[in-house]
Amino acid sequence: MSVNPLDVILIGAGQAGLASAYYLRRAGIDFVMLDAEESSGGAWRHGWNSLRLFSPASFSSLPGWLMPARSATSYPGRNEVIDYLSRYEARYGFRIERPVVVTSVRQIDGCLEVVTDKARWHARAVLSTTGTWRKPFIPDYPGASEFKGRQLHSADYVSEQPFVGQRVAIVGGGNSGAQILAEISKVAETVWVTPQVPVFLPDDVDGHVLFERATARVLGKKDGSEPGGLGDIVMVPSVREARERGALGSVRPFTHFDVNGVVWRDGTRTDLDAVIWCTGFRSALDHLRDLDVVTEDGKVEVNGGQSIKQPRLWLAGYGNWTGAASATLLGAGRAARDMIPRLVASVRRG
Ligand code: FAD
Repeated sequence: MSVNPLDVILIGAGQAGLASAYYLRRAGIDFVMLDAEESSGGAWRHGWNSLRLFSPASFSSLPGWLMPARSATSYPGRNEVIDYLSRYEARYGFRIERPVVVTSVRQIDGCLEVVTDKARWHARAVLSTTGTWRKPFIPDYPGASEFKGRQLHSADYVSEQPFVGQRVAIVGGGNSGAQILAEISKVAETVWVTPQVPVFLPDDVDGHVLFERATARVLGKKDGSEPGGLGDIVMVPSVREARERGALGSVRPFTHFDVNGVVWRDGTRTDLDAVIWCTGFRSALDHLRDLDVVTEDGKVEVNGGQSIKQPRLWLAGYGNWTGAASATLLGAGRAARDMIPRLVASVRRG
């Protein structure tokens, strides 16, 4: 347990935490990182085996040290990202306590108290970078609890192996849905359920272009008419290969489940063995509930990453509300570069 408050406690040592730590260390700030994982890599540790970045290595780096690339245009796999993050934290010698789960953050006299499953810590400021992986989102569909097939979220998907020979619905029209569909459609009968026709980017548009367009849009420099939101589908090799096989057809959502499958709008039905929800995530903010800062839409009101209601609390990496494209490797670094000088100044003011 710490007796004197630290300057900063950083909750989470995924990419957003590490990018922030880089700038905190450079400013000479006294901080510790508390991370719930057994080892390095944040959410990437839980990605499926074949997961590939949709941004090339050259545009997926954290501040200070480029991600090594097999080629300038290759899309790194999940293990390469974990290896990079692991070497990144070792390179800068960050103090990271693992596995430590933060259960609550409370205001006490002149500082914040961070309660964990191991000990209590105190700090002048807390920076929360807990990401979204621990908060998978599944939309409500009538009858879902009666369906006797298997349901899992992309957060828990590992490989196509358990689905060989089965009838599988993949729900969700983003990059996760497209990549998982591409893999499973090789071994199973699939139906891809998306709210609208998915937006496929041209083959020569990679995640870097996507990132720049999304950032420009958030910063108000684009009118939104150009394709390329962060949810649009990048044609990584596996998705292109699925297109060549004619496996990327999609249908609009069913109305409800029954015991054996789903019922479509026209009343017809399809038997299914499994449904994979590729329907996104929400910010993992349960540990902040005692500060009473989390709004109904599951965010915290911030100004440049600083909580408006609790100025000792800062947040990074959750998405556009904590900085343009801040939930990407490149964006995490840019958001940290903009935010950390203000956090440092506020800690030094007391
Ligand atoms: P995380 O990586 O989730 O790190 C948060 C850390 O906080 C974790 O270690 C977690 O254990 C810890 N934590 C959480 N709660 C607590 C707690 N209460 N106490 C202590 N520790 C806690 N981005 C790109 O730039 N390029 C891509 O190509 C790309 N592809 C993607 C593909 C998919 C399928 C997905 C899902 C995402 C992709 N992303 C990509 C997005 C993004 O890079 C990741 O979502 C990223 O892991 C988010 O990083 P983070 O540091 O914010 O959160």
